[in-house]
Amino acid sequence: MDKIFGNCECKKISFEITQEIKYFSHCHCSQCRRSHGSAFGSFIEVEEPFFKYNSGTNNIESYASSKDCLRIFCQICGSNIMFFNKRKPEKYYVSAGTLNKNTILPEAHHVFVGSKASWYEITDNLKQHLEYPKGYIGENKST
Ligand SMILES: [Zn+2]
Ligand SMILES: [Zn+2]
Repeated sequence: MDKIFGNCECKKISFEITQEIKYFSHCHCSQCRRSHGSAFGSFIEVEEPFFKYNSGTNNIESYASSKDCLRIFCQICGSNIMFFNKRKPEKYYVSAGTLNKNTILPEAHHVFVGSKASWYEITDNLKQHLEYPKGYIGENKST
C-alpha cells in the first residue's frame, strides 16, 4: 500500500502512516467540536506501530479532554494531530484534516450525532450513531 502522509498547518509536525485505514468517523461530540473549532472532528484509526512522526516531536503538546482521552496538538499552530484513549493507547485516532488532500479513505460514519450542533445539518447518507458505534471503545467522554 502507499504510505499516508500528514502534517500540521505550520508543517513543524509531520508524520506517516503505513497501514490500510478501515475506520473513519466524523465525531460531533462537544469536545471534538470545540477542539477543532468546527461542526465535527474527522478521525481515522491507526495502530500505534504503523504511525511514525517524521518531524516536530518537540512541538507536540497534549491536553486531557477527559480522564482517559488525551488530545495531541501542535504547540505552534494549534492543529489537532490525534487523540487516544489512555486505556487503549495502542490505537491512535488521527485527525483526517491533517492528511494530504488526495489520501483515499474508506466510507466514514457519523458518531455522537446526539451531541451535534443545532446549526449543522447532516445531509449525506452515511451511517449515524447517537454515540459510539456498537462495540467501539476509542474516544471516551467524561461524564
Ligand atoms: Zn504546527
Ligand atoms: Zn468526539
